[in-house]
Amino acid sequence: MSIRSICYDLDKMAKLKVITYPNPILAKVAKPINKVTPEIVKLMDDMAETMYAESGVGLAAPQVGISKRVIVIDVGVELMEGVRKSYLIQLANPEIVSSEGVIEWEEGCLSVPEFRLKVKRKAKVVVRGIDKKNKEVEYIAECLLSVAFQHEIDHLDGKLLIDRVSKAEKDKYLELIQKMAIL
Ligand SMILES: [Zn+2]
Repeated sequence: MSIRSICYDLDKMAKLKVITYPNPILAKVAKPINKVTPEIVKLMDDMAETMYAESGVGLAAPQVGISKRVIVIDVGVELMEGVRKSYLIQLANPEIVSSEGVIEWEEGCLSVPEFRLKVKRKAKVVVRGIDKKNKEVEYIAECLLSVAFQHEIDHLDGKLLIDRVSKAEKDKYLELIQKMAIL
């Protein structure tokens, strides 16, 4: 993985609204990006700000109501034991080109509030995509970064965490969030 410097201008960024299940946009397959234009760069920066504001570790464009293949992730990097630093990844058209092993992780999702689920994922993935400078980049990801890539790419394919449980459990969840909205 190449370590590139993070460059974004906080003044120009805007927090977007995160949409939640069962909004139908979340179930759509998102469209690929032809070219990373200044508008897409702005979207990537706004998504990063939104992710940080919501204390998430990843966000996909459909979660802000835009059905395009764009993701942002920041699970940080460990500089030394117990010392972590922010490490922002902003990608268009992310694609898993190879994977190996199995890992189980308890995941949450900003679009499925009050819901957590243990999910089996690939332990290691190689992800290819296009960065903010329209350049093809590749990441070799393990542990939480691997999980985050798979979770965000699922969003681009219209798949949510909640889709992994039975219809009865989904109904129970819907009831719960409706009740919470009333309170
Ligand atoms: Zn999610």
